[in-house]
Amino acid sequence: MSPLAIHCQGVEKSYGSGGERVRALRGLDLEARYGELLMIEGPSGCGKTTLLSIICGILQTDKGAVELLGSNLSEMSDRALTAFRSTQVGFIFQQFNLIPTLTARENVAIPLILNGHPYASSQKRAAEMLARIGLNDRANRYPSELSGGQQQRVAISRAFAGAPQLVVCDEPTSALDVSVQATILNLLVDLQKQDGTSFIFISHDLGVVRYISDKIAVLYLGRVVEFGDSNQVFGGPHHPYTEALLSSVPNIDGTVRKRIPLTGSVPSPSNPPSGCVLNPRCPRMAGSGVEGLC
Ligand code: ADP
Ligand code: MG
Repeated sequence: MSPLAIHCQGVEKSYGSGGERVRALRGLDLEARYGELLMIEGPSGCGKTTLLSIICGILQTDKGAVELLGSNLSEMSDRALTAFRSTQVGFIFQQFNLIPTLTARENVAIPLILNGHPYASSQKRAAEMLARIGLNDRANRYPSELSGGQQQRVAISRAFAGAPQLVVCDEPTSALDVSVQATILNLLVDLQKQDGTSFIFISHDLGVVRYISDKIAVLYLGRVVEFGDSNQVFGGPHHPYTEALLSSVPNIDGTVRKRIPLTGSVPSPSNPPSGCVLNPRCPRMAGSGVEGLC
């Protein structure tokens, strides 16, 4: 078994102060091994982006430990953290964030130049990365001359250009036309497998998640409520929220599951329920009158 690439223990993160504190992460534990693709699932507001921002070093934890690629983030100086992020971690977000005044190739070369590589070799490597994803004929185009799918491919090339050990993706296809989403996902997964990169990935496309992820973590109100190999989680989820979530996804053989509806909406993270996070929405509780049945 490969060593841990990501190890979060008891991570807490709140926003705001006093009575208005939003408890975005509440004692979150998570791990992923080198070379694994870890998918993060969960409803809007459950803390996914906060978690990724902490993993990337953009936010700091209030409490708990985050170890990334063998380094404890809280023990690193700001300077060391910046150097670590720029050499070891690639980022792909929903918005492509390309610099409009630079060509596709120049955008891809940015992390290499920032890491001190000479200009000429950075441009050469950037051109090779663009060729790898079939955009060699667009290398000298500006972002405004590219489609959304092509811009995201440039952003993907940029994330992989410095050969990072970990790539972090926050809904990388959700801003794209449905017709190109599968192409972009396939491209990402091909690069991940070819380079043996560790991946942490937020996606809401559960139909796809099942096929591309090694591990799945389901978050709800700032906690991991389900974690495991994706085949195991899809084959037999333990937590009632995961059961409900997956009940909308057909089985591998095309048969449909019994739909498990959840009533109401997710409670406010400023005032989470006591006991199981799914109180008071849990379908296993309905009518039983027994708190904490499962
Ligand atoms: P997700 O990505 O799962 O939708 P987020 O991590 O973005 O969840 O947010 C978790 C909770 O923290 C939400 O209730 C959100 O409104 C709140 N939140 C996120 N960022 C901030 C912020 N900068 N200031 C205050 N509250 C925030
Ligand atoms: Mg988010």
